[in-house]
Amino acid sequence: MKYTSPRGTRDILPEESFVWRQTVNKIINILENYNFSEIQTPIFESADLFQRAVGDTTDIVEKEMYIFKDKGERMMALRPEGTASVVRAYLQNYTHFQKKKVTKLFYNGPMFRYERPQTGRYRQFHQIGVEAIGSSSPFLDAETMVMGTQIFQELGLKDVNIAIHSVGCDVCRPVIKEKIKSYVESILPNLCEDCVSRYERNPLRILDCKNPNCQTFFAGMPDMNSALCKECNDHFLGVINHLEESEIKYNVDSHLVRGLDYYTKTVFEIRSDLLGAQNAICGGGRYDNLIAELGGRKTPAFGFAIGIDRLYMVLNELGLTKEIQKQTKFLIIGLGVKGQEIAFKTVLILRKRSISAEMFYKDNSINDGLKEALLLKVQYAVIIGEDEIDAQSYTVKNLKEKKQFTVNSLEELISIDN
Ligand code: ATP
Ligand code: MG
Repeated sequence: MKYTSPRGTRDILPEESFVWRQTVNKIINILENYNFSEIQTPIFESADLFQRAVGDTTDIVEKEMYIFKDKGERMMALRPEGTASVVRAYLQNYTHFQKKKVTKLFYNGPMFRYERPQTGRYRQFHQIGVEAIGSSSPFLDAETMVMGTQIFQELGLKDVNIAIHSVGCDVCRPVIKEKIKSYVESILPNLCEDCVSRYERNPLRILDCKNPNCQTFFAGMPDMNSALCKECNDHFLGVINHLEESEIKYNVDSHLVRGLDYYTKTVFEIRSDLLGAQNAICGGGRYDNLIAELGGRKTPAFGFAIGIDRLYMVLNELGLTKEIQKQTKFLIIGLGVKGQEIAFKTVLILRKRSISAEMFYKDNSINDGLKEALLLKVQYAVIIGEDEIDAQSYTVKNLKEKKQFTVNSLEELISIDN
Protein backbone atom coordinates (compact mmCIF):
# COMPACT_ATOMS: atom_id res chain seq x y z
CA MET A 1 0.00 0.00 0.00
CA LYS A 2 1.46 3.35 -1.05
CA TYR A 3 -0.43 5.55 1.37
CA THR A 4 -1.62 4.71 4.84
CA SER A 5 -3.05 6.91 7.58
CA PRO A 6 -0.38 8.59 9.73
CA ARG A 7 0.89 6.57 12.69
CA GLY A 8 -1.41 6.95 15.68
CA THR A 9 -4.42 7.95 13.59
CA ARG A 10 -7.19 5.75 12.28
CA ASP A 11 -10.15 5.76 9.96
CA ILE A 12 -13.43 5.52 11.75
CA LEU A 13 -15.37 3.22 9.46
CA PRO A 14 -19.14 3.49 8.85
CA GLU A 15 -20.33 0.98 11.49
CA GLU A 16 -18.30 2.67 14.21
CA SER A 17 -19.18 6.13 12.92
CA PHE A 18 -22.87 5.35 13.19
CA VAL A 19 -22.64 4.12 16.77
CA TRP A 20 -20.31 7.03 17.50
CA ARG A 21 -22.83 9.62 16.31
CA GLN A 22 -25.72 8.04 18.21
CA THR A 23 -23.55 7.97 21.33
CA VAL A 24 -22.47 11.58 20.93
CA ASN A 25 -26.10 12.63 20.40
CA LYS A 26 -27.13 10.89 23.62
CA ILE A 27 -24.32 12.59 25.49
CA ILE A 28 -25.24 15.99 24.07
CA ASN A 29 -28.86 15.49 25.13
CA ILE A 30 -27.72 14.99 28.70
CA LEU A 31 -25.35 17.97 28.55
CA GLU A 32 -28.15 20.17 27.26
CA ASN A 33 -30.43 19.00 30.08
CA TYR A 34 -27.76 20.28 32.43
CA ASN A 35 -27.85 23.61 30.56
CA PHE A 36 -24.57 23.30 28.64
CA SER A 37 -24.43 24.90 25.17
CA GLU A 38 -22.10 24.03 22.32
CA ILE A 39 -19.11 26.13 21.35
CA GLN A 40 -16.90 25.41 18.33
CA THR A 41 -13.36 26.71 18.38
CA PRO A 42 -10.55 26.34 15.80
CA ILE A 43 -8.58 23.09 15.60
CA PHE A 44 -5.35 25.10 15.76
CA GLU A 45 -4.42 28.00 17.97
CA SER A 46 -1.31 29.92 18.81
CA ALA A 47 1.11 27.42 20.40
CA ASP A 48 1.69 29.88 23.16
CA LEU A 49 -1.89 29.50 24.40
CA PHE A 50 -1.36 25.85 25.27
CA GLN A 51 2.13 26.42 26.67
CA ARG A 52 0.66 28.95 29.03
CA ALA A 53 -2.54 27.08 29.90
CA VAL A 54 -1.47 23.45 30.03
CA GLY A 55 1.93 24.15 31.61
CA ASP A 56 5.53 24.15 30.38
CA THR A 57 6.56 21.10 32.36
CA THR A 58 3.69 18.84 31.31
CA ASP A 59 4.18 15.95 28.87
CA ILE A 60 1.69 17.58 26.54
CA VAL A 61 3.71 20.76 26.15
CA GLU A 62 7.17 19.23 26.51
CA LYS A 63 6.78 16.34 24.11
CA GLU A 64 3.37 15.94 22.57
CA MET A 65 2.27 19.07 20.74
CA TYR A 66 1.99 19.22 16.98
CA ILE A 67 3.60 22.58 16.40
CA PHE A 68 4.12 24.25 13.07
CA LYS A 69 5.08 27.62 11.73
CA ASP A 70 2.51 29.09 9.37
CA LYS A 71 3.39 31.11 6.30
CA GLY A 72 3.23 34.27 8.41
CA GLU A 73 5.95 32.85 10.70
CA ARG A 74 3.50 32.35 13.58
CA MET A 75 3.99 29.33 15.83
CA MET A 76 0.73 27.42 15.81
CA ALA A 77 -0.31 24.15 17.47
CA LEU A 78 -2.98 21.60 16.71
CA ARG A 79 -5.05 21.65 19.86
CA PRO A 80 -3.98 18.95 22.33
CA GLU A 81 -7.02 19.59 24.54
CA GLY A 82 -10.13 21.76 24.62
CA THR A 83 -10.14 23.81 27.80
CA ALA A 84 -7.50 26.37 26.78
CA SER A 85 -9.36 27.12 23.54
CA VAL A 86 -12.72 27.46 25.29
CA VAL A 87 -11.28 29.82 27.90
CA ARG A 88 -9.58 31.82 25.13
CA ALA A 89 -12.93 32.05 23.31
CA TYR A 90 -14.71 32.96 26.55
CA LEU A 91 -12.32 35.85 27.11
CA GLN A 92 -12.28 36.96 23.48
CA ASN A 93 -16.10 37.01 23.35
CA TYR A 94 -16.43 38.39 26.81
CA THR A 95 -19.19 40.89 25.96
CA HIS A 96 -21.25 37.95 24.80
CA PHE A 97 -20.76 35.93 27.96
CA GLN A 98 -20.25 38.46 30.72
CA LYS A 99 -23.90 39.11 31.60
CA LYS A 100 -24.32 35.63 32.96
CA LYS A 101 -22.77 34.71 36.29
CA VAL A 102 -22.15 31.15 35.14
CA THR A 103 -21.46 30.11 31.56
CA LYS A 104 -21.74 26.41 30.69
CA LEU A 105 -20.17 25.32 27.41
CA PHE A 106 -19.40 22.03 25.72
CA TYR A 107 -17.20 21.13 22.73
CA ASN A 108 -16.90 18.04 20.59
CA GLY A 109 -14.06 17.20 18.26
CA PRO A 110 -10.58 15.87 17.55
CA MET A 111 -7.50 16.56 19.68
CA PHE A 112 -3.86 15.91 18.76
CA ARG A 113 -1.02 14.64 20.91
CA TYR A 114 2.23 13.10 19.74
CA GLU A 115 2.03 10.12 22.10
CA ARG A 116 3.28 6.56 21.75
CA PRO A 117 0.40 4.89 19.91
CA GLN A 118 -1.10 1.84 21.62
CA THR A 119 -4.55 0.43 22.29
CA GLY A 120 -6.75 3.31 23.39
CA ARG A 121 -3.99 5.86 22.84
CA TYR A 122 -3.87 7.70 19.55
CA ARG A 123 -2.26 10.81 18.11
CA GLN A 124 -5.60 12.05 16.87
CA PHE A 125 -8.39 11.21 19.30
CA HIS A 126 -11.77 12.68 20.09
CA GLN A 127 -13.19 14.34 23.11
CA ILE A 128 -16.47 15.77 24.25
CA GLY A 129 -15.71 18.19 27.00
CA VAL A 130 -17.58 20.62 29.23
CA GLU A 131 -16.53 23.84 30.92
CA ALA A 132 -18.65 25.53 33.59
CA ILE A 133 -17.19 28.98 34.15
CA GLY A 134 -18.04 31.41 36.93
CA SER A 135 -18.68 29.58 40.20
CA SER A 136 -16.55 28.11 42.97
CA SER A 137 -19.52 26.36 44.60
CA PRO A 138 -18.84 22.73 45.51
CA PHE A 139 -22.34 22.07 44.13
CA LEU A 140 -20.92 22.81 40.69
CA ASP A 141 -18.11 20.26 41.13
CA ALA A 142 -20.54 17.65 42.40
CA GLU A 143 -23.25 18.23 39.82
CA THR A 144 -20.77 18.17 36.92
CA MET A 145 -19.30 14.88 38.14
CA VAL A 146 -22.81 13.49 38.61
CA MET A 147 -23.49 14.48 35.00
CA GLY A 148 -20.38 12.56 33.90
CA THR A 149 -21.52 9.49 35.78
CA GLN A 150 -25.07 9.80 34.45
CA ILE A 151 -23.72 9.86 30.89
CA PHE A 152 -21.95 6.52 31.35
CA GLN A 153 -24.86 4.97 33.21
CA GLU A 154 -27.33 5.97 30.50
CA LEU A 155 -25.01 4.54 27.86
CA GLY A 156 -25.15 1.21 29.69
CA LEU A 157 -21.79 1.22 31.48
CA LYS A 158 -22.65 -0.18 34.87
CA ASP A 159 -19.22 -0.54 36.41
CA VAL A 160 -17.47 2.75 35.97
CA ASN A 161 -15.76 4.09 39.03
CA ILE A 162 -15.04 7.68 39.78
CA ALA A 163 -11.86 8.60 41.60
CA ILE A 164 -11.63 12.04 43.14
CA HIS A 165 -9.08 14.07 45.00
CA SER A 166 -8.09 17.66 45.74
CA VAL A 167 -4.79 19.06 44.46
CA GLY A 168 -5.11 22.21 46.57
CA CYS A 169 -4.62 25.84 45.63
CA ASP A 170 -1.83 28.43 45.53
CA VAL A 171 -1.77 28.46 49.32
CA CYS A 172 -1.39 24.74 50.03
CA ARG A 173 0.13 23.46 46.77
CA PRO A 174 3.66 24.39 47.92
CA VAL A 175 3.10 22.34 51.09
CA ILE A 176 1.82 19.39 49.07
CA LYS A 177 4.83 19.69 46.73
CA GLU A 178 7.25 19.68 49.66
CA LYS A 179 5.54 16.64 51.12
CA ILE A 180 5.89 14.77 47.84
CA LYS A 181 9.47 15.88 47.43
CA SER A 182 10.52 14.75 50.86
CA TYR A 183 9.01 11.31 50.24
CA VAL A 184 10.33 11.03 46.67
CA GLU A 185 13.86 12.00 47.70
CA SER A 186 14.49 8.53 49.12
CA ILE A 187 13.12 6.67 46.06
CA LEU A 188 14.49 9.05 43.41
CA PRO A 189 17.35 6.77 42.26
CA ASN A 190 14.75 4.14 41.31
CA LEU A 191 12.59 6.44 39.20
CA CYS A 192 12.69 7.17 35.47
CA GLU A 193 14.45 10.14 33.87
CA ASP A 194 11.20 12.08 33.51
CA CYS A 195 10.44 11.72 37.20
CA VAL A 196 13.92 12.86 38.10
CA SER A 197 13.55 15.98 35.98
CA ARG A 198 10.09 16.64 37.42
CA TYR A 199 11.41 16.34 40.96
CA GLU A 200 12.63 19.93 40.92
CA ARG A 201 10.41 21.43 38.28
CA ASN A 202 6.95 19.96 38.98
CA PRO A 203 7.00 17.30 41.71
CA LEU A 204 3.20 16.80 41.72
CA ARG A 205 3.43 15.47 38.17
CA ILE A 206 5.66 12.63 39.35
CA LEU A 207 2.49 10.92 40.55
CA ASP A 208 1.09 10.94 37.01
CA CYS A 209 4.05 8.99 35.62
CA LYS A 210 2.79 6.13 33.47
CA ASN A 211 5.95 4.04 33.94
CA PRO A 212 4.85 0.85 35.78
CA ASN A 213 8.19 0.58 37.55
CA CYS A 214 7.85 4.10 38.97
CA GLN A 215 4.27 3.36 40.01
CA THR A 216 5.43 0.53 42.28
CA PHE A 217 7.45 3.04 44.32
CA PHE A 218 4.50 5.39 44.85
CA ALA A 219 2.51 2.98 46.99
CA GLY A 220 3.91 4.33 50.25
CA MET A 221 3.35 7.97 49.33
CA PRO A 222 1.92 9.87 52.31
CA ASP A 223 -1.71 10.97 52.17
CA MET A 224 -1.72 14.53 50.90
CA ASN A 225 -5.15 15.50 52.18
CA SER A 226 -3.63 16.54 55.48
CA ALA A 227 -1.60 19.19 53.62
CA LEU A 228 -4.69 20.94 52.21
CA CYS A 229 -5.40 24.43 53.56
CA LYS A 230 -8.66 25.00 55.42
CA GLU A 231 -10.43 26.50 52.41
CA CYS A 232 -9.46 23.59 50.13
CA ASN A 233 -10.26 21.03 52.78
CA ASP A 234 -13.71 22.54 53.43
CA HIS A 235 -14.35 22.71 49.71
CA PHE A 236 -13.35 19.08 49.27
CA LEU A 237 -15.59 18.00 52.16
CA GLY A 238 -18.44 19.98 50.57
CA VAL A 239 -17.95 18.23 47.25
CA ILE A 240 -17.89 14.84 48.93
CA ASN A 241 -21.04 15.69 50.87
CA HIS A 242 -22.90 16.59 47.70
CA LEU A 243 -21.68 13.45 45.99
CA GLU A 244 -23.06 11.47 48.91
CA GLU A 245 -26.39 13.31 48.56
CA SER A 246 -26.52 12.43 44.88
CA GLU A 247 -25.91 8.77 45.69
CA ILE A 248 -23.14 8.14 43.22
CA LYS A 249 -20.31 5.81 44.07
CA TYR A 250 -16.86 7.37 44.24
CA ASN A 251 -13.56 6.74 45.88
CA VAL A 252 -10.97 9.18 47.11
CA ASP A 253 -7.64 8.51 45.39
CA SER A 254 -4.96 10.49 47.17
CA HIS A 255 -2.45 9.84 44.35
CA LEU A 256 -4.63 11.31 41.65
CA VAL A 257 -3.12 14.26 39.82
CA ARG A 258 -3.86 15.20 36.25
CA GLY A 259 -1.66 15.65 33.21
CA LEU A 260 -2.38 19.36 32.92
CA ASP A 261 -1.09 21.99 35.31
CA TYR A 262 -4.15 24.24 35.45
CA TYR A 263 -6.10 22.18 37.97
CA THR A 264 -6.84 23.48 41.48
CA LYS A 265 -8.87 21.84 44.23
CA THR A 266 -11.07 19.01 42.90
CA VAL A 267 -9.69 16.63 40.29
CA PHE A 268 -11.37 13.45 39.15
CA GLU A 269 -11.16 10.60 36.70
CA ILE A 270 -13.74 8.07 35.58
CA ARG A 271 -12.26 4.69 34.70
CA SER A 272 -13.43 1.44 33.25
CA ASP A 273 -11.79 -1.87 34.12
CA LEU A 274 -12.64 -3.11 30.65
CA LEU A 275 -9.96 -0.93 29.08
CA GLY A 276 -6.73 -2.41 30.44
CA ALA A 277 -3.81 0.00 30.78
CA GLN A 278 -5.43 3.09 29.24
CA ASN A 279 -8.39 2.88 31.57
CA ALA A 280 -9.49 6.52 31.88
CA ILE A 281 -12.54 7.47 29.86
CA CYS A 282 -13.14 10.86 31.45
CA GLY A 283 -10.99 13.28 33.37
CA GLY A 284 -11.32 16.76 34.69
CA GLY A 285 -11.58 19.05 37.64
CA ARG A 286 -11.60 22.60 38.88
CA TYR A 287 -9.32 25.28 37.45
CA ASP A 288 -9.75 28.49 39.41
CA ASN A 289 -6.58 30.23 38.15
CA LEU A 290 -6.61 29.52 34.44
CA ILE A 291 -8.85 32.36 33.35
CA ALA A 292 -6.72 34.93 35.13
CA GLU A 293 -3.61 33.18 33.81
CA LEU A 294 -4.87 33.78 30.27
CA GLY A 295 -5.57 37.44 30.91
CA GLY A 296 -9.09 37.53 32.36
CA ARG A 297 -10.36 38.44 35.79
CA LYS A 298 -9.93 35.72 38.42
CA THR A 299 -12.87 33.43 37.64
CA PRO A 300 -13.43 29.97 39.08
CA ALA A 301 -14.35 27.13 36.72
CA PHE A 302 -14.85 23.38 36.48
CA GLY A 303 -14.67 21.05 33.48
CA PHE A 304 -14.04 17.58 32.15
CA ALA A 305 -13.41 15.73 28.90
CA ILE A 306 -14.63 12.32 27.80
CA GLY A 307 -12.46 10.27 25.43
CA ILE A 308 -14.86 9.05 22.76
CA ASP A 309 -12.47 6.53 21.18
CA ARG A 310 -12.07 4.75 24.52
CA LEU A 311 -15.78 5.06 25.28
CA TYR A 312 -16.50 3.28 22.00
CA MET A 313 -14.07 0.51 22.99
CA VAL A 314 -15.95 -0.02 26.24
CA LEU A 315 -19.35 -0.03 24.53
CA ASN A 316 -17.96 -2.57 22.06
CA GLU A 317 -16.48 -4.71 24.82
CA LEU A 318 -19.89 -4.79 26.52
CA GLY A 319 -21.58 -5.84 23.27
CA LEU A 320 -23.63 -2.64 23.27
CA THR A 321 -22.56 -1.47 19.82
CA LYS A 322 -24.32 -4.40 18.10
CA GLU A 323 -27.66 -3.01 19.18
CA ILE A 324 -26.99 0.27 17.43
CA GLN A 325 -26.79 -0.33 13.69
CA LYS A 326 -27.96 1.69 10.76
CA GLN A 327 -30.67 -0.06 8.77
CA THR A 328 -31.87 0.65 5.26
CA LYS A 329 -35.38 -0.66 4.79
CA PHE A 330 -35.57 -1.52 1.08
CA LEU A 331 -33.23 -2.59 -1.70
CA ILE A 332 -35.07 -2.33 -5.01
CA ILE A 333 -33.82 -4.74 -7.66
CA GLY A 334 -35.06 -3.94 -11.17
CA LEU A 335 -34.42 -6.24 -14.14
CA GLY A 336 -33.82 -4.84 -17.61
CA VAL A 337 -34.11 -1.24 -18.71
CA LYS A 338 -37.75 -0.94 -17.70
CA GLY A 339 -37.21 -2.63 -14.33
CA GLN A 340 -34.29 -0.26 -13.57
CA GLU A 341 -36.44 2.74 -14.46
CA ILE A 342 -39.24 1.66 -12.15
CA ALA A 343 -36.65 0.91 -9.43
CA PHE A 344 -35.21 4.42 -9.84
CA LYS A 345 -38.63 6.10 -9.56
CA THR A 346 -39.58 3.88 -6.63
CA VAL A 347 -36.49 4.70 -4.52
CA LEU A 348 -36.97 8.39 -5.16
CA ILE A 349 -40.58 8.27 -3.97
CA LEU A 350 -39.72 6.14 -0.93
CA ARG A 351 -36.99 8.55 0.12
CA LYS A 352 -39.29 11.53 -0.35
CA ARG A 353 -41.65 9.79 2.05
CA SER A 354 -38.71 9.51 4.51
CA ILE A 355 -38.31 5.79 4.02
CA SER A 356 -34.72 4.58 3.59
CA ALA A 357 -34.22 2.82 0.29
CA GLU A 358 -31.43 1.85 -2.08
CA MET A 359 -31.47 0.81 -5.72
CA PHE A 360 -29.49 -2.13 -7.10
CA TYR A 361 -27.78 -0.83 -10.23
CA LYS A 362 -27.08 -4.11 -12.00
CA ASP A 363 -29.99 -4.93 -14.30
CA ASN A 364 -29.49 -8.62 -15.01
CA SER A 365 -29.19 -10.59 -11.80
CA ILE A 366 -31.73 -11.07 -9.05
CA ASN A 367 -29.24 -13.32 -7.30
CA ASP A 368 -26.55 -10.64 -7.12
CA GLY A 369 -29.25 -8.23 -5.96
CA LEU A 370 -30.27 -10.56 -3.13
CA LYS A 371 -26.63 -11.05 -2.09
CA GLU A 372 -26.23 -7.27 -1.97
CA ALA A 373 -29.42 -7.04 0.11
CA LEU A 374 -27.90 -9.41 2.68
CA LEU A 375 -24.65 -7.43 2.78
CA LEU A 376 -26.56 -4.19 3.23
CA LYS A 377 -28.69 -5.90 5.91
CA VAL A 378 -31.84 -4.35 4.48
CA GLN A 379 -35.17 -5.47 5.84
CA TYR A 380 -36.76 -6.06 2.45
CA ALA A 381 -35.50 -6.83 -1.03
CA VAL A 382 -38.01 -5.76 -3.66
CA ILE A 383 -37.89 -7.42 -7.06
CA ILE A 384 -39.19 -5.82 -10.23
CA GLY A 385 -38.79 -8.41 -13.00
CA GLU A 386 -40.78 -8.99 -16.19
CA ASP A 387 -43.77 -10.53 -14.38
CA GLU A 388 -43.93 -7.64 -11.93
CA ILE A 389 -43.68 -5.08 -14.73
CA ASP A 390 -46.59 -6.75 -16.54
CA ALA A 391 -48.72 -7.01 -13.41
CA GLN A 392 -47.61 -3.59 -12.05
CA SER A 393 -46.73 -5.30 -8.79
CA TYR A 394 -43.68 -5.77 -6.57
CA THR A 395 -42.32 -9.01 -5.16
CA VAL A 396 -41.11 -8.36 -1.62
CA LYS A 397 -38.72 -10.61 0.31
CA ASN A 398 -38.54 -10.20 4.07
CA LEU A 399 -34.93 -11.21 4.52
CA LYS A 400 -35.04 -11.81 8.24
CA GLU A 401 -38.17 -13.93 8.28
CA LYS A 402 -37.33 -15.46 4.89
CA LYS A 403 -40.87 -14.81 3.66
CA GLN A 404 -41.96 -13.63 0.22
CA PHE A 405 -45.15 -11.83 -0.76
CA THR A 406 -46.57 -9.60 -3.48
CA VAL A 407 -47.84 -6.05 -3.17
CA ASN A 408 -49.90 -4.51 -5.91
CA SER A 409 -49.19 -0.82 -5.60
CA LEU A 410 -46.54 1.64 -4.55
CA GLU A 411 -48.81 2.84 -1.73
CA GLU A 412 -48.94 -0.70 -0.41
CA LEU A 413 -45.13 -0.93 -0.57
CA ILE A 414 -44.83 2.36 1.31
CA SER A 415 -47.21 1.21 4.00
CA ILE A 416 -45.31 -2.01 4.82
CA ASP A 417 -44.62 -1.87 8.60
CA ASN A 418 -45.79 1.72 8.80
P1 ATP B 1 -4.28 9.44 30.13
O1 ATP B 1 -3.97 9.46 31.58
O2 ATP B 1 -4.94 8.19 29.68
O3 ATP B 1 -3.13 9.86 29.27
P2 ATP B 1 -5.11 12.15 30.22
O4 ATP B 1 -5.06 12.42 31.66
O5 ATP B 1 -3.97 12.58 29.36
O6 ATP B 1 -5.38 10.59 29.96
P3 ATP B 1 -7.13 14.11 29.59
O7 ATP B 1 -6.19 15.03 28.95
O8 ATP B 1 -7.72 14.44 30.88
O9 ATP B 1 -6.47 12.66 29.61
O10 ATP B 1 -8.31 13.76 28.55
C1 ATP B 1 -9.55 13.19 28.95
C2 ATP B 1 -9.81 11.87 28.25
O11 ATP B 1 -9.41 11.90 26.90
C3 ATP B 1 -9.02 10.72 28.84
O12 ATP B 1 -9.68 10.23 29.97
C4 ATP B 1 -9.06 9.72 27.69
O13 ATP B 1 -10.29 9.00 27.67
C5 ATP B 1 -8.99 10.59 26.49
N1 ATP B 1 -7.63 10.63 25.95
C6 ATP B 1 -6.58 11.37 26.38
N2 ATP B 1 -5.48 11.15 25.62
C7 ATP B 1 -5.86 10.24 24.69
C8 ATP B 1 -5.19 9.61 23.59
N3 ATP B 1 -3.92 9.87 23.29
N4 ATP B 1 -5.88 8.71 22.83
C9 ATP B 1 -7.18 8.43 23.11
N5 ATP B 1 -7.86 9.00 24.12
C10 ATP B 1 -7.23 9.90 24.90
MG1 MG C 1 -2.26 11.65 28.79
